[in-house]
Amino acid sequence: MQIEEMRLDGNAAGGVLRDVFAHDMTAAIATCEGCGKMGPIGALLDYAHGMGVVLRCPTCDMPVLRIARMHGQFRLDLSGIRWLTIPESTSPDRTDAMT
Ligand SMILES: [Zn+2]
Repeated sequence: MQIEEMRLDGNAAGGVLRDVFAHDMTAAIATCEGCGKMGPIGALLDYAHGMGVVLRCPTCDMPVLRIARMHGQFRLDLSGIRWLTIPESTSPDRTDAMT
């Protein structure tokens, strides 16, 4: 199979994107781009403000995840995350996997 035959547009990833973002993200494990510390999103330090939240690394204080809510949209800045690992067992559709 040629590489051109495998290429689709982003709509083809709609199913997996829906699976990924349907999880309880506080259980997802983020690796800080600043210091490499790995830990659950729920353990980051939350600096909430009017337009959204800034979640900072508890070790190096780098902004790991920024979420702004404006004009009917969410805008995410994930540049402080080296890796984001989301356990499949936290999906609301996968409650069978949690038992
Ligand atoms: Zn850090």
